[in-house]
Amino acid sequence: MARVYYDQDADLADLAGETVAVLGYGIQGRAQALNLRDSGATVVVGNREDAYRAQAVTDGFEVLPIPEAAARGDLILLLVPDEVQGEVYEQAIRPALAPGKALVFAHGFAVRYGVIRPPEGVDLLLLAPRLPGKYVRDLYLRGSGVPVYVDVGHDATGRARRRVLALAKAIGATRVGAMEVSFAQETELDHFSEHFLYPLIFTALRVAYEVLVEEGYDPEAALMELHGSGEVGEVLLEAGRVGLDRMIETLASPACQYGIYAYAPRVVPEGTRRLIREILREIRDGSFARELLAEQRQGYPRLRAMREAARAHPLAATEARLRELIRLPR
Ligand code: NAD
Ligand code: MG
Repeated sequence: MARVYYDQDADLADLAGETVAVLGYGIQGRAQALNLRDSGATVVVGNREDAYRAQAVTDGFEVLPIPEAAARGDLILLLVPDEVQGEVYEQAIRPALAPGKALVFAHGFAVRYGVIRPPEGVDLLLLAPRLPGKYVRDLYLRGSGVPVYVDVGHDATGRARRRVLALAKAIGATRVGAMEVSFAQETELDHFSEHFLYPLIFTALRVAYEVLVEEGYDPEAALMELHGSGEVGEVLLEAGRVGLDRMIETLASPACQYGIYAYAPRVVPEGTRRLIREILREIRDGSFARELLAEQRQGYPRLRAMREAARAHPLAATEARLRELIRLPR
């Protein structure tokens, strides 16, 4: 069974006297930097000249160019997008990696695919939150946190595990649990949910919306029945808390339960297993990593086109109208 660490297994004193350099102040960078500071850590932010930098200044951080922040940091958190990490590492971080420092990743991509190979004298750590940055911050402020995967890829100082656990505690993660999972498994599992689970759910919503509207259902009513009411989110949250079947038993009427179980084999047919294996193969053999890095090098042409198509979809306009009509709790 996977080893899980909690607050009593970690000590914030392991961060004493060390400066944490948060490189990148985006979705994860901002949340982690704010939590670290509130937990008493010494934080500097490294960011290029952009709107994220301005936000870090507004939030009261000392903000430096990335190479200078990397030079100041004993613990260096690399929180820029995965596809640009190689370039940022070569230009700004490698020269700053004196022995005894730690390089910390929130996702194993650059390490798993060999884009970054830190020197022997440096601790290589994984602190990978399982939820977006918004929740890393919001749950911390509510006295809780989000679960993380942690790993020690290389222990140069003999303090690597203590260091990553102290960081996990400082962002609130050991309040709920920090699970030991290798860089490789974290990377592959993270991509798996991005290549199977989320496209499955999001595409099902979009396609169902299109057909329901074509079949004459009122667009707002159709959207309400899909993700518009927040029900899908709530029931999945409950499934995470009490288990899938227990959630269905306690929240669903017999008619609803019957429908769910009876139609399951038709909507996810046996052949889906083959598809899942194919998706895993493309992750493990590096095909997807190569595709993503090429996409980044060309300036994300496909990503931009797919994003534009999504924005232009009639679903987006209906969502805006429904948001006016139905006031979900924030
Ligand atoms: P993001 O897209 O929010 O990153 C934006 C930040 O990166 C900004 O500070 C920006 O200035 C900087 N940046 C962008 N391009 C740059 C470049 N070429 N050079 C220098 N700086 C650049 O990133 P994110 O979603 O927070 O992801 C950061 C890391 O966290 C990734 O490894 C990601 O896999 C991991 N992660 C993210 C989430 C999430 O909530 N999005 C969850 C778990 C793990
Ligand atoms: Mg990811």
